Amino acid sequence: MSETAADPNQCLALVADSDDTVRERIKSMLMQIGYRVREAADGLKALEAFSDACPQLVLLDASLPKMDGYAVCENLRRHPQGARVPILLMIDPDDPQSLKKGYEAGATNFEIKPIQLEILGYRVRYRAHANATRETARIVEVAEIQRSAHLGSWRWELQHNRVEWSSLGRQIFGLPEHTIETTHEGFLIHVHPGDRAHVCETHIEALKSKQAFAVEYRIIRPDGVQRVIREQAEVILNPVSGRAMVLRATIQDVTELRQAQERIRYLAFYDSLTGLLNRQAFQQELQRSLYFADRHDGMIGVLFVDLDNFKRINDTLGHAMGDALLKVVADRLQRNVRKFDFLARSQNDAQEDRGRVARLGGDEFVLMLTDMESIEVAATVAERLLNLLNQPVQVGEYEVAVTPSIGISIYPHDGQDVDHLLRNADMAMYQAKETGKNTYRFYNESMNARALQRLDLEHKLRQALENDELSLYYQPQVDLSTGALVGVEALLRWHNPSLGWVAPEDFIPLAEETGLIVPIGNWVLQLACRQKKIWETQYSKPLRLAVNLGGLQLRQSDLASFIERLLEETGLRASDLELELTEQSLMANAEDNLDILSRLSGMGVSLSVDDFGTGYSSLRYLKRFRLNKLKIDQSFIKKVPYSADNAAITSTIITLAHTLGLKVIAEGVETDAQQSFLRSHGCDEAQGYLYGQPMTTDDFTAFLLRHEENRPDAAEPQDARTPKAASASITRSGRTP
Ligand code: C2E
Ligand code: MG
Ligand code: MG
Repeated sequence: MSETAADPNQCLALVADSDDTVRERIKSMLMQIGYRVREAADGLKALEAFSDACPQLVLLDASLPKMDGYAVCENLRRHPQGARVPILLMIDPDDPQSLKKGYEAGATNFEIKPIQLEILGYRVRYRAHANATRETARIVEVAEIQRSAHLGSWRWELQHNRVEWSSLGRQIFGLPEHTIETTHEGFLIHVHPGDRAHVCETHIEALKSKQAFAVEYRIIRPDGVQRVIREQAEVILNPVSGRAMVLRATIQDVTELRQAQERIRYLAFYDSLTGLLNRQAFQQELQRSLYFADRHDGMIGVLFVDLDNFKRINDTLGHAMGDALLKVVADRLQRNVRKFDFLARSQNDAQEDRGRVARLGGDEFVLMLTDMESIEVAATVAERLLNLLNQPVQVGEYEVAVTPSIGISIYPHDGQDVDHLLRNADMAMYQAKETGKNTYRFYNESMNARALQRLDLEHKLRQALENDELSLYYQPQVDLSTGALVGVEALLRWHNPSLGWVAPEDFIPLAEETGLIVPIGNWVLQLACRQKKIWETQYSKPLRLAVNLGGLQLRQSDLASFIERLLEETGLRASDLELELTEQSLMANAEDNLDILSRLSGMGVSLSVDDFGTGYSSLRYLKRFRLNKLKIDQSFIKKVPYSADNAAITSTIITLAHTLGLKVIAEGVETDAQQSFLRSHGCDEAQGYLYGQPMTTDDFTAFLLRHEENRPDAAEPQDARTPKAASASITRSGRTP
C-alpha cells in the first residue's frame, strides 16, 4: 500500500483497514495533524508495512481480512520495534469479547466503530505526546545504566550494513565524537588483527544460528592503545520472514579486569623470586605433557636439580645474596633448556616450548624435557647443566661457585604419573649427592650404565684430536657421461686404541651434540685442503674436493673467514672446494643459514645438499640457499632400478634439480645397473663402491696415479674398483678397514 509523500521527519502512522473509505478519512485527519501515513488493506500487509517502515503509531481494524487485528497486534508486540509502539484497535461494539481480546493482544487503546474522527484526532495527539515523553525517559534510563556499568553498545543493521554506536560504545573504541555509524568492516578494522577473523566468524555464526553469544577480543584504538573488550550480543529477527535483521551488542572494556586476573594467575603459577613456574604449575604442565606423551608414545625426562652447599652460601653471605644467586641459576637453567630445544628441535616445531623449568622451593629446581628422541638427550642436558652451573657466579662483589646434583627420571620407564616421576627423580638426585655431588644420576641403573658409556665415548672423542686418532679417507666421484674422475669426498675416520674403529654414525652425532664437531670439522677442512693441494701436483685434471660440514659448524660466526684464510694459505681456488650440508642442518636454522651460505657462495665455494630426499626438501629454501648441487641419498639408489618407487623418486629428484639449475650426484652406486639407470636419466655424477671405496691418503694417491696413466681416455668406471681401493674401505663399528 502507498505511503503519503511528506517531510521524512514527520511521524509515520500505519492505518490498516479493509474499507478504502474509512482508511481515506482517517488518513486525511492524520495528515492534518502532521502525520505521514502508510496504509494496509489486510493483516499480512499491515505486518509487512510495519517491518518495512517502523511507524510510530498504528491504527488497526480488529476485523482485518487474512489476519485479524488481534493477531496483528500480538505479532507487532513481538517485533523488536513493536514493543512500545502505540496501537489503537478499532473494535466492533457488538462483540462483547473485543475489549478483553484487544488488551490480551497488547493494544494500547480502543476506538469504537464507527470512528469519530475528531475524538480519534485528540486521542492520537495525546498518545503521541505521552509516548515521546516515555521513550525519552527510557533512553535516558538505559544510557544511565550503561554508563554506570561502563557498558557501551552498537547495533548492526544488516540490510544496509550500518553499525550505529552509542556514545559510550564510541568512547570505548576511541572513535571520534562525530562518528554516528560505520559499516561492519569499519567496526572490524578496530579489532586487533590477531582476533579479527575470530570476531568476524563469531558474528557470522550468530547470524546463522540466530543465537545470542559472548566474545572477548582486543581492539586497537585510533591512538594506538590496545584494550580488551567483552561483547555480549543478540540477534534480532524479522518477525515476518524470521531472518536475522539486527545484531545488537553490549560492549565493556575489561582490560583492567583481565590484567588483574593475569596478575593473580601469575602469582598462583609462578615463583615470585625467579619468575620460573612454581611447583603446582609444573605439576600441571607435567600432567598435560604425560597425557600427550601417552597418546604419541613420547618420552619425557624429569631432571631434579639441587644446589650443593647452597645453605652455606646463604649463611655466610646472607639471604639477599642467596636470592641473587638463585636468580642467576634460574636464568642459566632456562637458557639451557632453550639451548636443548634449539638443538633437538626440527624447524617445524621451533616455535613450540618443549622444555619447562620450575623452582620447587629453596634451592631445588626441576626441568621437564618433552619429546625426547632418546634417553641420551637427558644425559646431554644434564651434562650441559653441570658445565653451565660450574661457572662461577658474580653476586654483588663476590664471585661464588655453586655446583648442582641432578637426578633424572624418565617417563614411561621410571613412573607413570607426576608423583612417581618427581619422587624418583628426587631419589636419583640423592644418589648423585652420595656419589660425590656435582654430577647426575638416572633413577634407572641400566640408564646410568648407558650414560656412563656415552660419557666415556665423549671423553675419548675429546682426546682423539690431540692423540692423533682421527684420519681422513677419500672416495672418488665421477662424471657419469664421460666416466672421468672429477671429485673426491673426504670422509672422517676415528681409530681409538681401546675401542678400535668407531663408525662415523656413532661419533659424528655425539660430536655435534657436544660441540666437538667445530674443532674436528675445522681440522678436517684444513687437512683435506692441504692434501688436495698436494694432489694438484700429481693429477693434472681438475679435481674438486668435497668436505662434509656439520650443522653446528654453520653457526660459527667466523666460518667464512676461516675458509677464506684456508684457501689463501693452501692456494686452492674457491671453486675447487665443495661443502656438503645435510638437509637437516640446512633447515634447522634456515633463516640464519641464508646469510652464511650466501657469503660462502659469494666467495665461489660450491654448496651441495647431502643425503637429499631424507629431510624436508623445502623447495622455497632450496631456491634461496644458492646451492649448486643435490646429492641423492644412497637409500634411494639402493634398489634402483628394481624398485619402482626408488626409481621414480630418483628420476624426480634429477628432474627437480635440473629445473632449479642444480647439478645432481648419486651416492652409494654399487652396480652397473644403477649406473645405467642414472646415466639414462641424465644424472650428472656418481659416487660409490663401483668407482672406489673410501681409501687412505696413500691409496687414493695411487688411485690418482693410475687414473693419470690411463688418460687421455677416461677410465672405465669399473677400473676404479681396484682390490687396493677396496681394501681401504671401512665397515661399521669396531672393525678395521
Ligand atoms: P655421507 O657424507 O653421506 O657419506 C657417504 C657415506 O656413504 C660414507 O659413509 C661412505 O663410506 C658411504 N658409501 C659410499 N659409497 C658407498 C656405497 O657404494 N655403498 C655403501 N653402502 N656405502 C657407501 P661413512 O664414511 O661411514 O660416513 C657416514 C656419514 O658420516 C657421512 O655420510 C657424513 O654424513 C658423516 N661424515 C663423514 N665424515 C664427516 C666429516 O668430516 N664431517 C662431518 N660433519 N660429517 C662427516
Ligand atoms: Mg657427504
Ligand atoms: Mg650422503
